Amino acid sequence: MTVSFPASRQRTVLAKLATLYADMDAAYAGAAAAAGLSCEGCAENCCVSFFQHHTLVEWLYLHKGLAALSAERRERYLARARDYVASAREALSRGETPRIMCPLNDDGLCGIYGQRLMICRLHGVPNVLIGGMGVREFPGCEPCQRLAAGNPNIKAMDRTPLLRRLAGLEMELWGSKAGRPPKVDMTLAEMLLRRPGE
Ligand code: SF4
Ligand code: SF4
Repeated sequence: MTVSFPASRQRTVLAKLATLYADMDAAYAGAAAAAGLSCEGCAENCCVSFFQHHTLVEWLYLHKGLAALSAERRERYLARARDYVASAREALSRGETPRIMCPLNDDGLCGIYGQRLMICRLHGVPNVLIGGMGVREFPGCEPCQRLAAGNPNIKAMDRTPLLRRLAGLEMELWGSKAGRPPKVDMTLAEMLLRRPGE
């Protein structure tokens, strides 16, 4: 994927992404509190979930976080990312969905918490996405699904406006290039091992 963006545009868009992430965190915190969901002491760490489809803007921000780490810590995460990619390939070749711990997870704590991706921020609570494919419903993580089974009043969070803003930032980063930004069809481990433009 050979793409590059002017440094000034990257700075502007990444600053807006930081604001959007803060708004996502606030929306998530409200929905989690309403549902009675807490990640504290959770034994079902969702950082083993297999996610793809991310955005260029989030990929750039992830690398900003990675660049700020010490060389030793960064290399540790990259080594784990290489192991992750190999294990995921093996699982996929057996027809299985990989369930492998994220290379950035340090004993339950996220190693790049400030730069974690949208999916990491919004995954837990039940949520809906309203768009061209109608209303798509996501049940949230398993602990939250168990809470919802005992409390039918738990409302799904509408993540549509947050995703629209993220799509807007992706277009702003893309600028006047021809066509539309490509989907970043990679796992987080693969995103760590490459930079946008490589
Ligand atoms: S989002 Fe859900 S599964 Fe993930 S750590 Fe929190 S409570 Fe556990
Ligand atoms: S980036 Fe952080 S929150 Fe997201 S899966 Fe990895 S360790 Fe978990």
